[in-house]
This record gives sequence, C-alpha cells and structure tokens, in this order.
Amino acid sequence: MRAQCQCGQLTVELPGPSPAVVACHCIACQRRSGSPFGVLAYYPEDLLTVAGEGKRFERATDEGSRFETVFCPECGSTVYARTAKHPSMIGVAVGAIADPALPAPVRSVWEESMHHWVTVPGEVQHFAKGRV
Ligand SMILES: [Zn+2]
Ligand SMILES: [Zn+2]
Repeated sequence: MRAQCQCGQLTVELPGPSPAVVACHCIACQRRSGSPFGVLAYYPEDLLTVAGEGKRFERATDEGSRFETVFCPECGSTVYARTAKHPSMIGVAVGAIADPALPAPVRSVWEESMHHWVTVPGEVQHFAKGRV
C-alpha cells in the first residue's frame, strides 16, 4: 500500500490499512487540505518508508502543541503530518492513499468547527475540540 502526492514525486510505503483513522474539522486542517475536513491515518513512524523530497511546514496548534505537515514542493499535496504530542506517529493523508476501501474514521475531532452538512457515521468517538 502506498500514499503519494498528485505528481508522484513524494511517496510513503505503508504496511496496510491503519486502524487509527482520524477526521479533523479544525480550521487549520481545512486550510491545509483545501477540504471541509482533514483525514489522517496514523502509523508508527518505523513502519513507513518515505521516498522523494518533502517540504515541511510547522505551526502551533490550538492546544499549545506543534503540528508539522510535509508536502510535495512540486505539486503542493500534503502527504503526511506529525504532531509533537505523539512524535513517534505519522499521520498519512487518507486522500494521498486514495483507496476507497480504507477503514472509516474512529475519531472525529474539532467538531465545533465542522461544516453543518457533514456527518461522520458509524462507531466513531466525537470530540468538540481535540482528543482529551
Ligand atoms: Zn507532487
Ligand atoms: Zn485539525
């Protein structure tokens, strides 16, 4: 299984589907992804193999932590991200994996800024802000 940017320059080899898929409706994830919410599949970093050149962007989070996104300098797609809260984990952009059979989110966070038409169905934990 593999995640890649639009142009294919930046790739991440994955061991398979992740059971830890998180949908985030925060404003920063909306701007980062260009979508109404961001969805990341989390993996321990040592299970992943990154190839290609990634550019990093780091920002502060509303909870006072740091969040780093890595994107392709050619086409601009975010391929993966990391939070200082869980530095050994990497969140791979579910859209970059582009496999419709992937598991649905198990957590939905920052729902206080969720678009009014969005619902996250199924067995999912809902949080108004970040996970507590
Ligand atoms: Zn690219
Ligand atoms: Zn977010």
